Amino acid sequence: MQAVSIAALDNLCAHARDFDQLFSLAMAVALIVKTVLILGLMTLPSVYSEDAPKCENTECEKEDVSSLLQSRVHASSESRAEELECTFVAMMEEDNSIGEKDSTDDGYMWGECKDDSEVTHYLFDDDELEKFGPGDKIKLTVSAVSGGNLPTAPNLPWQSDNVPLYRIVSVIAHESALLTEEDHSLTDGATATKEVDVIMMICNYKNQKAFVTDEDKVMNSFYQKLGEKLYSSQGRGSFADMLSASSYGRFTAPRSKGKVVTVTINKNFPFQGCPYNDMAKDCKQATRDQTNFDPDDFTFREFFIPTQGSGCRWGGLANVGCGHYSRIPRKGACHAWYRSDRPFVRAHEIGHNLGFLHAGGDWGTGSQYVEYGDPQASMGASYTFSSFNAASRYQGGFLRKVAGEAVEFQPDFNTGNSGTFKLQSLSKPLGEQGSDAVAVFWSCPKCVPKVSSHSSNVGGNLWLQFRGDEGYSAVTLDSKFQNKVYVHLARKYTSKYYGKDTEMWQVMGKGDSYRPPNSETTVTVEDIVGDLATVTIKAGKAPTTEAPTTGAPGACTDKKSGCPRWAKLYCTGRWSSWMATNCQKSCFAGQACPPPQATWILGQPGKSCTEACESAGKSCSDINLYNVASAEDVQGVAGKAGKTCKNSVGWAYKFSPSICTSSQCCGSGSCTGWCTFGNRGERSCSETTGGHHSRLCPCI
Ligand SMILES: [Zn+2]
Repeated sequence: MQAVSIAALDNLCAHARDFDQLFSLAMAVALIVKTVLILGLMTLPSVYSEDAPKCENTECEKEDVSSLLQSRVHASSESRAEELECTFVAMMEEDNSIGEKDSTDDGYMWGECKDDSEVTHYLFDDDELEKFGPGDKIKLTVSAVSGGNLPTAPNLPWQSDNVPLYRIVSVIAHESALLTEEDHSLTDGATATKEVDVIMMICNYKNQKAFVTDEDKVMNSFYQKLGEKLYSSQGRGSFADMLSASSYGRFTAPRSKGKVVTVTINKNFPFQGCPYNDMAKDCKQATRDQTNFDPDDFTFREFFIPTQGSGCRWGGLANVGCGHYSRIPRKGACHAWYRSDRPFVRAHEIGHNLGFLHAGGDWGTGSQYVEYGDPQASMGASYTFSSFNAASRYQGGFLRKVAGEAVEFQPDFNTGNSGTFKLQSLSKPLGEQGSDAVAVFWSCPKCVPKVSSHSSNVGGNLWLQFRGDEGYSAVTLDSKFQNKVYVHLARKYTSKYYGKDTEMWQVMGKGDSYRPPNSETTVTVEDIVGDLATVTIKAGKAPTTEAPTTGAPGACTDKKSGCPRWAKLYCTGRWSSWMATNCQKSCFAGQACPPPQATWILGQPGKSCTEACESAGKSCSDINLYNVASAEDVQGVAGKAGKTCKNSVGWAYKFSPSICTSSQCCGSGSCTGWCTFGNRGERSCSETTGGHHSRLCPCI
């Protein structure tokens, strides 16, 4: 164990090393926990990528000096940092056990970019990557991923190519392709009818045919209607039919827009590695040479390849987000590769093209939460084919935020409030008589994803949807999942093109109540009549049933002596669930530890929050300072102080969160009005600013 730890630590920044030392005593015996933490720590460098202060005059530099020093320490410990200039090609998702209900296999996700010499570079999947879309010109500082965080499955593309998998350390330049390409996102939210056009290429090789050679079968598995037994005797529908139903006819895939071709590539099928990009290139060229079609005229391009003897392990492989509704039409946008032609696999891979990831859950059993564990979602474990969730329809761009579709409830956590909504069946056309909405959602800033590999992504929205017993909600879905109200967490995401997908948290019948963990809300299904469900959402603290006494079970305590120190950094973010268990008191986690309700005010330039709160007749609360850790957080607290942020940046001052309020911020005033949220665990109420910044202060 020790040897493994040392090797894995080799690539960490100095800050992370300190953190590991803090933890090592507490966890000397908790080997499993420690392994998890080390894997997580390997991803810390990306947190700092935006931290570099951008000061141009001496006064400002004075303020920045602590952050600057930290950045230098960090830079010098990143031994293998190098620059990479390339064009972003795609996000890739590989599925080894698509939709298998018990699979804990998350598949693999990575980004690809190409440099001027057409060499493909592979980029580690983290939040930085989501800022890029296909065609974007990017210049990055990168370092090779190594140690425990490097995926080790055989024949991953960077292994086959014998090149590094790069992690983005910082973004030097980013020129969005949307500036030059027609931007269809301008029509986002419109009810425009858009069509999926697709070319299906059966790619035979000289020495081996594709696993499927029947063109009709390939067409039918994509287009058969519910109940039609064209592909098999099961009549379970298809992607095209389900998309039309899930999008209320806004996004359709007419059979007339689909073409299938069979071509032969004049090469032997590659038996080393899994060079899927070469396969796509060769098959598209063969299509140009041997048919009347040019694959670049189609938005969606599917490849059916041989299955014998290569290093490919997946059932399906696809680009993510290239075919988002708002980006359609978009010639030459998407690729999907198949080693199975089942309708469910097609829907899953094209679902990735549309911008969906996996629908997680516990298979409705209350057991472990897994990547594909949502039994009633097309991107989950419903191998029997159901439709897209309401939350996915919204992220995918074809369910709008208007009355009758997706409606937002605004919880008031301080004084408490409630809302009652009539939801129509997810599988009926819009406008069901008597309905208020297809689904209702509300913000859950403290929600922790239950699929462990996503647990660091705290926040997102909770969704309520009602599945009736029609169409894709019924034909293959177990009756226990019909006529039920569902609570989903839509994990926090920054890019609608990629999303972070959903988790099914609860299945509810009439009369059921449920309090989603960390949501400070309770949902109740008041009634289910026909195709309508009446639901109530109540916001506010849970009623306290008994007064906690010190030391008793359920009391507000820390389990580790280091908690107050660790709380400065780790109550939010990727450690939050570990901290919520072990450092309840310091993180104000758990119902026995209600956080102090703070009033946020803007301090005077140069002054501390201690002074600011005192002059308002209150005192400053450190814990509320620590909990501001993202752009969203700082915008939220600025709003509470009656201010808005012109921009939000991860500059990590001891006095963050703050707003640069001087007219000379960054010298010329170019960053006046910018808010800072970076956190290195050095914040306290007593810190003062250098004069340009005004602190945002939580007073209680
Ligand atoms: Zn997948």
